[in-house]
Amino acid sequence: MSQPVLMLPDEAATQAFGERLVLALPETSLIYLYGDLGAGKTTLARALIRALGHEGAVRSPTYTLIEPYELAGRRLYHLDLYRLGSPEELEDIGLRDLLAEPATLLVEWPEKGQGVLPPADLELRLEPAGVGRRLSLHPATARGAKILKNLGFSS
Ligand code: ADP
Ligand code: MG
Repeated sequence: MSQPVLMLPDEAATQAFGERLVLALPETSLIYLYGDLGAGKTTLARALIRALGHEGAVRSPTYTLIEPYELAGRRLYHLDLYRLGSPEELEDIGLRDLLAEPATLLVEWPEKGQGVLPPADLELRLEPAGVGRRLSLHPATARGAKILKNLGFSS
């Protein structure tokens, strides 16, 4: 499967990608956001959530671990697992139920849930590139490949 790379020269480019991504997502999708602190994971998630019609602030789930949304007739969960003590704690936030729902899951720091989190449909990795960011997209399922196709990347 192709693994496209995009250059995001500034914050506006990250936001524009979030807006573009939301249009490409099927109702159920599992998206993992990789990258160091400050890479732009929350920036991307916020733009996507706003593009679905959320008004006002988009809270970072840094302390709550999860923020639920019901927007434009779809369910979306934004997770930030940075402060997860162990992958087993995912049971406490009801991961199993979330995965059984038709919903979009956007997960920052999926590394922290390794062993309990299932494979993503699409992995996004943000890395510094000059003053901007480099975004690489790794589809891991047929659904992930479909998302890339919807984004206009050929396989
Ligand atoms: P993370 O959630 O990965 O820790 P944040 O989204 O909270 O990162 O913060 C990213 C920071 O980088 C913000 O200050 C944002 O303005 C900035 N930023 C986001 N995307 C870009 C980009 N493409 N180029 C330069 N700066 C960016
Ligand atoms: Mg973040």
